[in-house]
Amino acid sequence: MNAEQEALLADLRERARAFGRDAAPRVEGLSEDDAARKALALLAEANLLAWTVPGKDGGADARGLCAPDTVSVRALCTLRDELAWHSGMLDVMFVMQGLGSYPLARGGNAALRKEYLPSVARGRRMAAFALTEPDAGSSLADVATRAEKTARGWRINGSKTFISNAGLAEFYTVLARTSGAPGDGGDSLSMLFVPASARGLAIERFEVMAPHPIGEVRFSDVEVPAENLLGVDGKGLELALATLARFRTSVAAAANGFARRALDESKARLTARKQFGKPLSTFQALRFDIADMDVRLRASQLLVAEAAEAVDNGSKAAAEVARAKLFATENAGFVCDRAVQHFGGLGVKRGVIVERLYRDVRALRIYEGTSEIQKLVLAKELLEPPRG
Ligand SMILES: Cc1cc2nc3c(=O)[nH]c(=O)nc-3n(C[C@H](O)[C@H](O)[C@H](O)COP(=O)(O)OP(=O)(O)OC[C@H]3O[C@@H](n4cnc5c(N)ncnc54)[C@H](O)[C@@H]3O)c2cc1C
Repeated sequence: MNAEQEALLADLRERARAFGRDAAPRVEGLSEDDAARKALALLAEANLLAWTVPGKDGGADARGLCAPDTVSVRALCTLRDELAWHSGMLDVMFVMQGLGSYPLARGGNAALRKEYLPSVARGRRMAAFALTEPDAGSSLADVATRAEKTARGWRINGSKTFISNAGLAEFYTVLARTSGAPGDGGDSLSMLFVPASARGLAIERFEVMAPHPIGEVRFSDVEVPAENLLGVDGKGLELALATLARFRTSVAAAANGFARRALDESKARLTARKQFGKPLSTFQALRFDIADMDVRLRASQLLVAEAAEAVDNGSKAAAEVARAKLFATENAGFVCDRAVQHFGGLGVKRGVIVERLYRDVRALRIYEGTSEIQKLVLAKELLEPPRG
């Protein structure tokens, strides 16, 4: 990284920190949908969403941190680490713009990209990414949602679940089967761009343990034109996996942001709270905890930095990304759990920050590839490294 790029990332971190300080209280206490919309509007106003879209499609100029037709993982990680420190809702609304629109950036035709991507970068259109199905989670080759070719384009039938931004998004990038049967190899799946206004699209919302707009998306004879195919017919799984590969390291960065906040809260609480006539921070057992939390967090940060740099530099970096996602998200669970313990009863009281953090970090071990899937990826890289 050159000095200009280092300065750019340092400036981005400062901007995100100042933004989070101001924006987090303005999002708290609102209903889930209001909070989601407000978060997006505030992120747009601060021009942070530009970092979720490639520079060539109306996103931020990454000044060589990555190729112009992609998004900088280092920038995403820097921003998510700070946003998550302040608010899970700010973090999720930020990243979903990128995750939902990246298949369009990589595979959309020029007209579709021009129509949608600049407005995603400005927060005028909300994006969603639809892979998971009731019977296809970790195993995406089992996707059963079908897209049949018609005279005008594609007719889609099936259902997706656990779709972030369901019901709020203006479009969905959808993985669907264009040939073969569930379980067939990846070459029978394709990605399609589906506007939320398409006839036959229905939403059923549900709640998860931390504020996060999410639900099911059902497709009943949803018709989209031929040009809504993203990339090549039969290459949709590759496109979906390339999207996840680009964004997964940023999940680890968000985990680090949550964990860093939990550690900050623990340090403050242990210093302020007295029991047995002394601050809790003087008890060796708790001092050891703080040391453990710190060293594990630092290790997570280094793993994220290594993975983000490798991906930005054009490497697949499957092992580096899997290590970072696995370790940082598991570690955030550990750190937030210790922080709850340090707060005693207050740690589980609604409204206390560590209670929220404990709920916020749980899903990170599950989405964008569970911890077990990261272990499988890492073991494959270690035991059967790609040749050449
Ligand atoms: C908050 C949240 C937001 C999400 N947002 C989105 C979204 O926007 N778009 C989207 O498409 N999806 C989204 N998801 C879905 C998410 O990607 C899936 O939940 C995840 O991929 C796991 O799939 P599953 O839930 O079907 O679990 P399963 O695949 O059924 O796995 C269940 C358990 O079995 C383990 N397991 C599975 N296979 C193996 C194996 N071979 N070896 C060892 N263990 C294994 C898993 O690790 C897990 O612990 C979201 C999920 C959550 C919780």
